[in-house]
Amino acid sequence: MAGVTAPETAETADRPLILTVDDDPSVSRAVARDLRRKYGEGHRIVRAESGKDALEALREVKLRGGRVAVLLADYRMPEMSGIEFLEQAMDLFPRARRALLTAYADTDAAIAAINVVDVDHYLLKPWDPPEEKLYPVLDAMLESYAREPDTATTEVKVVGHRWSQPSFTTRDFLARNAVPYRWYSADSAEGERILAAAGEDGERLPVVVTPDGRALVEPAMTDLAAAVGLATAPVDEFYDLVVIGGGPAGLGAAVYGASEGLRTLLVEKRATGGQAGQSSRIENYLGFPDGVSGAQLADRARRQAVKFGTEILTARHAASLKVRGSALSVCLGDGAEVGAHTVIVATGVYYRELECPGAQELTGRGVFYGSASTEAANCVGRDVYIVGGANSAGQAAVFFSRTAKSVTLVVRGDGLEASMSHYLIEQLRAIDNVSVKTHTVVDAAHGAEHLERLTLRCTRSGDAEEVEASHCFVFIGAQPRTDWLEGTIARDSRGFILTGPDLLVDGQRPAGWALDRDPWLLESSIPGVFVAGDVRAESVKRVASAVGEGAMAVTLAHRFLAGP
Ligand SMILES: Cc1cc2nc3c(=O)[nH]c(=O)nc-3n(C[C@H](O)[C@H](O)[C@H](O)COP(=O)(O)OP(=O)(O)OC[C@H]3O[C@@H](n4cnc5c(N)ncnc54)[C@H](O)[C@@H]3O)c2cc1C
Repeated sequence: MAGVTAPETAETADRPLILTVDDDPSVSRAVARDLRRKYGEGHRIVRAESGKDALEALREVKLRGGRVAVLLADYRMPEMSGIEFLEQAMDLFPRARRALLTAYADTDAAIAAINVVDVDHYLLKPWDPPEEKLYPVLDAMLESYAREPDTATTEVKVVGHRWSQPSFTTRDFLARNAVPYRWYSADSAEGERILAAAGEDGERLPVVVTPDGRALVEPAMTDLAAAVGLATAPVDEFYDLVVIGGGPAGLGAAVYGASEGLRTLLVEKRATGGQAGQSSRIENYLGFPDGVSGAQLADRARRQAVKFGTEILTARHAASLKVRGSALSVCLGDGAEVGAHTVIVATGVYYRELECPGAQELTGRGVFYGSASTEAANCVGRDVYIVGGANSAGQAAVFFSRTAKSVTLVVRGDGLEASMSHYLIEQLRAIDNVSVKTHTVVDAAHGAEHLERLTLRCTRSGDAEEVEASHCFVFIGAQPRTDWLEGTIARDSRGFILTGPDLLVDGQRPAGWALDRDPWLLESSIPGVFVAGDVRAESVKRVASAVGEGAMAVTLAHRFLAGP
């Protein structure tokens, strides 16, 4: 800390601070010495010689999530008086106890100031002996602070706007990567304090403050991932197996690959868990009779993959795939290349977007794709709409019915039976605040700052109605995003990757296939590149099948490594 004396060590970092500021260096040293003598064991004693330096130090403490118990400020300082300093310090640490150090001649002014800035005490200088004149006052202040202390935060702090897509994306990214964080609305008192400490005026949000006190403004996902300790760069240049995509199929492949001794790298664009990570409750996955939340399943699978030695890159994506002689090369978004003997593509699918006026503008501000479980708290007492009639929509309806006033499923077809599992339909029937609107589509989304209303249209009568809605979660089918493989790997007309027998046309192997055998079951049109999960043409869109295909792809990778 510039202009401040108080070395922070690992030992002292989480102790509450006592800060003293006095422009006279000899007095400043003497105060700090007296404080250290009695309070040095349980507290960090920090001294500064100007209000500006002291505030700078406090901002740093704030960003690091530290606590400040007591502030002692000299009344008469040249650039910033003790009163001015305490006033500004209060904005950062409102719970810190405050005292003014004054000379006898300034007593009246100091007493008057006590009323202005709510100072707890004033201390006359010099105070010898401290046992009589300093410590009893400090003891009282520390006692009062201990009754109502700040809580130290070691988590990541996110300050943002409640209804903003970038703020939502940041929170969602941290939540889905199991990074603990604390959310502060930019217009809350604490949010304002953190922004002030970071030197930001709130124009650019979100601001993310890491536990070591770094402030990131509107961070890119890769920068955010790196700042919160997620790996973003590969350790090696070459791997036995590179898995692209960290959903159930990719995690399954990583667990089996690494546990069977393959040097395995998994590259995930956003957050491990994929679609399954967004599921509020998966009830039909083997071995979980009471169901399991997608987040839990993803967390366990990720830890399992890491335990076996998988290296996981987060917030990195595969941008192209090349064949280099007998090896393969995966190019990442920033142009970096990673070599591999074998590759498993497990990039899954993405939700189709709602195509109606207002939907794009209100995305992240009431319109969400997937269940966005971080929004549950914002749905309390509100009217929530869920568009879609498959299991994912049903699970979301069960989940949000716990907090929302009402949940309405908007379904294009004439019921749920054709698209949703029987057990979920039964669950929904038993919930009072859930209803289903069939033969209905969303025609428009309205709202200024946030979604306020939806226009729903009956596809039979053509009648439209406007309904109040604070949240609309969209589950209207999914599509693969495999454009990055265009011209490299054979895909079907919808972009799903063809594998095994599906690659044979009239018994002919795919163009460019040089081996003297047909492609194996999960093998793509490039030998040694396997495909698992939802992205594979004709795959069953289920967690269990994705995990199973991931495991099976590893077996085929072994076979390939043994000799194509
Ligand atoms: C809300 C919801 C509830 C569901 N509930 C159930 C259920 O109860 N039971 C059930 O069996 N199934 C359920 N499903 C379906 C199931 O989640 C999917 O079938 C399964 O997740 C598919 O796994 P996957 O690994 O193939 O793909 P995904 O889960 O889609 O994962 C693919 C991953 O690849 C990443 N990726 C994409 N492109 C790239 C790239 N270029 N580079 C790097 N990474 C990339 C994505 O970010 C993603 O994380 C549900 C789905 C949803 C959305």
